[in-house]
Amino acid sequence: MVVCEEDRECGVCYQAYTRSERVPRLLHCSHVLCTLCLERMSRALSSLLAVRCPFCRWTTCVGPNLSLQEGLWVHTELWDQISEHEDKNEEEREEEEEEKSQGQATRQVQLTQQSKWSSLKSYKLHLEVPPILKRLSNNLQRTFQISHQTCSTS
Ligand SMILES: [Zn+2]
Ligand SMILES: [Zn+2]
Repeated sequence: MVVCEEDRECGVCYQAYTRSERVPRLLHCSHVLCTLCLERMSRALSSLLAVRCPFCRWTTCVGPNLSLQEGLWVHTELWDQISEHEDKNEEEREEEEEEKSQGQATRQVQLTQQSKWSSLKSYKLHLEVPPILKRLSNNLQRTFQISHQTCSTS
């Protein structure tokens, strides 16, 4: 999926997503909003939090007793876009370390390594998804399932 430049900002406040305050999160209708806007638009329904999507008016509920951060998925592709720069640095650092350990690594060796890496899907995945994000999405997956069940039974 290609993320356009304009998708990197929230459709409500038109601010660019960030990794701290304006984290891009998915509503159950798959529209994306920043966390600040989600918090502003959420309404408390007993133990649930309901957010009505400003684009399609679908109501997403989160809970019981979960915050929006706990109950809604982070849009990982947008998150990757935000962290793109940092990831690149990390990759470069890894390559540098490898170069040192190999002693006499030339630019060409580095290139062949890179093409090998991209054919190894699992390794590539490991490079692209920081472990903290993996843990986060596992958490979110669990809470999403809980909130989803609650939504459909109530
Ligand atoms: Zn926003
Ligand atoms: Zn929507």
